Amino acid sequence: MVDLVIKGARVLSPANEMDMVTDISIVGTRIHRVGPLEQGETAKEEIDGKGYILSPGFIDFHVHGFAYFTDYGTYPDDVGVRSGVTTVVDQGSAGYLTFPAFHEFMVKSSATRVLSYLNIGAVGTIKGSMLPALHGPETVDVGAVVETIAKYPHIIKGIKTHAEMGGVARWGFDVLAKAKEAAKRANVPCYVHTGRLIPCEGFSLPDPDSIVPGALEYLEPGDILTHCFTGHPGGIVKTTGEVHKTVRRAISDGLLLDVGYGEHFSFDIAQKVLDQGIMPDLVSSDVHALFNQPHSLQATYGLFSALSHLLALGIPLSDLIAMVTDHPARILGWDEELGRIEAGYQADLTLFRIESGSFLFRDRFGVSVPASLRLEPKLTIRQGVPYWAPVIKEAEV
Ligand SMILES: [Zn+2]
Repeated sequence: MVDLVIKGARVLSPANEMDMVTDISIVGTRIHRVGPLEQGETAKEEIDGKGYILSPGFIDFHVHGFAYFTDYGTYPDDVGVRSGVTTVVDQGSAGYLTFPAFHEFMVKSSATRVLSYLNIGAVGTIKGSMLPALHGPETVDVGAVVETIAKYPHIIKGIKTHAEMGGVARWGFDVLAKAKEAAKRANVPCYVHTGRLIPCEGFSLPDPDSIVPGALEYLEPGDILTHCFTGHPGGIVKTTGEVHKTVRRAISDGLLLDVGYGEHFSFDIAQKVLDQGIMPDLVSSDVHALFNQPHSLQATYGLFSALSHLLALGIPLSDLIAMVTDHPARILGWDEELGRIEAGYQADLTLFRIESGSFLFRDRFGVSVPASLRLEPKLTIRQGVPYWAPVIKEAEV
């Protein structure tokens, strides 16, 4: 007797090049079989997947999942299992001083698997998070960061830091240098915010085209630049519209790019980057709750919006699914447990559909792109347990 069978969905698992209509059965927390039940075998629960796509559980590499703590923190489950996502990576809500609270109140109490990239700053993005005093090099204690990562190695998978106009205007690359020092000592990657972040009034602004090349002096293969399609100055695209040569070189050496969608995503920049033959490695949402309403459930966008927008730009569906399943699983070092549909893998699955219609997707920079397809979550299965009906009905940004 198996616990659960999902029947007749199109099973799409790019990691093992699977794309076929079949049944998937689950026993306990693991995938039992790819294919129909054997004769005489029965299932305790059956889900009809006809007309839907079943993929490995989506991994959202960039959320803000510390409710009530930041200006824009969500509950991980609202952007996790209730939104078609089985694993979320919180990017820098907590620093070493505040991580124990994050662990107690968010990680332990969520049905979603919650991981963290620890903020290099002492407190993380506490409410009032853009207060520059909280983000300068004087708040960084490399030893304490390394110790905290060593204490929670199963949860903390990297270090969140920034390389952007405001921070560089104030402190040069001092914070990034310390983040990299901590990352090397802890043997984890850095995840680096590019584009606008910290206010820089009263400081002379650096040349936006100097930011990313300057940051690359510190970074190594395996580190991740996020907001690779940012419409704000100081990203991977020069003011001339060309991707920095140093970025191209770093990518061929193993530097990774994440979309980090949300407030930063620009259709124009995305098109420019894609036209120059550069694809992101990861798609993440950078989902925030409504600003100043940390308890609100009403996030108006998420990972599915990000994927729909990128589908509208012509990135093939199976590539997009790889960017939220196989690729993040590899980066987390969990590709033998997560990120593909195969017997023995964890039963973390996302059931979704592609809705046809006439949609107009907007970015934060006033650009609209018409689209005829949109991805919509139906069901999330996390270690064998199904979660129906997303609480969050996503709207186009
Ligand atoms: Zn973010």
